[in-house]
Amino acid sequence: MKDILLANETFGMAASQFDRTAEFLNLSEEVKERCKWPKRTLCFSLPVKMDDGRTEVFFGYRVQHHLSRGPVKGGIRFHPSVEVGEVAALAMWMNWKCALMQLPYGGAKGGIACDPRKMSAGELERLTRRFAQELLPFIGEQVDIPAPDVGTNAQTMAWIVDTASTQAGRFVPGIVTGKPLELQGSAGRTQATGHGVAFTSTLALSRLGIDCHGATAVIQGFGNVGSYAAETLMCDGVKVQGVSDITGAIWNDNGHDIIKLRKHVIETGGVRDFADSEPIDPREMMIKKVDILAPCAMERAIDETMAPNLQCKVLAEGANGPTTPEADTIIEERGDIFLIPDVMCNAGGVTVSYFEWVQNLQRFSWTEREVISKLETLLAATFERLVSFAEKRNCSHRVAALALGIKEVADVKKTRGLYP
Ligand code: NAD
Repeated sequence: MKDILLANETFGMAASQFDRTAEFLNLSEEVKERCKWPKRTLCFSLPVKMDDGRTEVFFGYRVQHHLSRGPVKGGIRFHPSVEVGEVAALAMWMNWKCALMQLPYGGAKGGIACDPRKMSAGELERLTRRFAQELLPFIGEQVDIPAPDVGTNAQTMAWIVDTASTQAGRFVPGIVTGKPLELQGSAGRTQATGHGVAFTSTLALSRLGIDCHGATAVIQGFGNVGSYAAETLMCDGVKVQGVSDITGAIWNDNGHDIIKLRKHVIETGGVRDFADSEPIDPREMMIKKVDILAPCAMERAIDETMAPNLQCKVLAEGANGPTTPEADTIIEERGDIFLIPDVMCNAGGVTVSYFEWVQNLQRFSWTEREVISKLETLLAATFERLVSFAEKRNCSHRVAALALGIKEVADVKKTRGLYP
């Protein structure tokens, strides 16, 4: 199993970040091994009737990294590149993220190798329901609570709730988070991750003595995370000059109107050809001189060829794993970029997912204002803890964030002991 996981580039990245941090923390070989590898790695074949009458078999995965600190939590991704190593890497990062945020969860992730852009709504519903059915023995509100990720959304979660509720013979909203509001989703969940990316970026700007009003930003990815990060930044007075997605990249020196851009994306399927914008090479956009660069798309967007050319002051990792370890080393050596590591920057999503779960368990609901205020309080406290740890221990923000998360998990492992 170790070889299969390590053969995947993204898992290799997560493992190398872990090894480096374990060494920094001086973890014993025993605790290190127990923390590094996933507890459960599940693989499912999923036969689905397609619209043209064929039956196609898809492959789906769920990796539960650790159950030591509580139920596991993590999104479900629908994307052609999904494979078990990638899912395991994302589950590992979720583990450190939940621990860093001091949420009572371990990390998990799931995914299906498929291309949702090429599937009809009916095909996606049948695929989701089949996956949910296969997952049911392994998930639940006290065991593993999935949520949306790349290529999935509130509707996907609604199909999972319906499948689980039909099987259980009662309504079980607590089995997933990121649900529609009418199915007891939480106010504020849809925008939570992007809001957190924007909020932590403004905390970083203020540390650097830069006023948000008139500051500039580039956002890679205009899905759930990127679009809400862009919208919140615009509301804070930041000019979002560059935006890209799978269809291309666009530029406007004065900043884009994100509300109009969202409407354009809904109507046309992408950011390309948005009025009042110039097309720009997506790679060139990433290295423009701006205050904030927020990669909010896929892993490994910033590699060792791009890192020396970056001209941003704040690198806000909205996506999971957007910076390769080689690029990380270059950024660290340069010392002129304020990095907000992924496990901190995009933690708004899992934090409001936690609020949603708590509300579901209590059969109670909070207002959007209550949710966002609790979210900002937690993010600000964790951001301060991370930055002061890095200053005190003279380490990078990446190492500080992972060290705070991994130490929390390692301490629980040590205290619980080894069974039998
Ligand atoms: P999404 O599917 O809603 O959006 C992904 C966006 O990235 C789309 O606009 C797509 O066109 C764009 N994209 C894909 N490949 C690209 C490329 N090569 N260049 C530019 N753009 C590209 O997904 P999302 O939920 O916004 O997730 C984005 C990232 O944030 C992922 O790394 C995910 O794991 C992470 N994340 C998501 C959440 C959440 O709550 N949704 C929480 C934490 C972290």
